[in-house]
Amino acid sequence: MDAEVFRAWIVSAAGVIEANRDHLTQLDAAIGDADHGINLARGFTAVLVALDAPGAKTATPGAILTVTGNTLISKVGGASGPLYGTAFRRAGKALGDAADVDLPALAAALDAALAGVQQLGAAREGDKTMVDALAPATRAFSKAIADRAAPDDALSVLAEAASAGAAATVSMQALKGRASYLGPRSVGHEDPGAVSTALILGALRDAARAGR
Ligand code: ADP
Ligand code: MG
Repeated sequence: MDAEVFRAWIVSAAGVIEANRDHLTQLDAAIGDADHGINLARGFTAVLVALDAPGAKTATPGAILTVTGNTLISKVGGASGPLYGTAFRRAGKALGDAADVDLPALAAALDAALAGVQQLGAAREGDKTMVDALAPATRAFSKAIADRAAPDDALSVLAEAASAGAAATVSMQALKGRASYLGPRSVGHEDPGAVSTALILGALRDAARAGR
């Protein structure tokens, strides 16, 4: 997967976040402050501008993810901006200067993203956050690669595990972030950040498949 595929991922992620902007905001209205869709849509709109800016460093997959992360950190308020920004920056750093990224390198980058999110936000699996989508997704992806799954299948496993992880947050009580203020009343709702993570990883599957 080359820089064009990674650019296509981010463009597709921006599109799917925009299309789900109101849905994400409604999920956040139930257990947060009703801004998650607004936050992310604004952030990804800024990312698209940054990627097309004159002189933007976008020649490699890693550079594209680094621009994405830097922009999300600077443009998105709330918890999710720094968390997603760190995730993309760490992934970009893990890819280094490689012009082409294979599935194991992509898996290592997603692992680095997860480690960054957990280092910054201290959420563990079960705390009802984006970690509950990202962690099972990276685990399933690495396992699929180790089991020698076909690339398309490994990418499907990644996206489906993220969606299943997001769905599983419904029954969890939030222990991190704004939703944790609700205590037991946070049970019964899907976590907005877990849903947006599943959307972003679904966009990765789609872009990687189209670009192969
Ligand atoms: P805010 O909560 O500041 O309004 P957003 O609404 O944009 O920010 O994002 C909320 C999402 O951020 C949550 O649904 C959750 O997935 C994620 N989140 C919040 N705190 C943490 C954390 N400590 N670790 C991981 N994810 C978190
Ligand atoms: Mg919010």
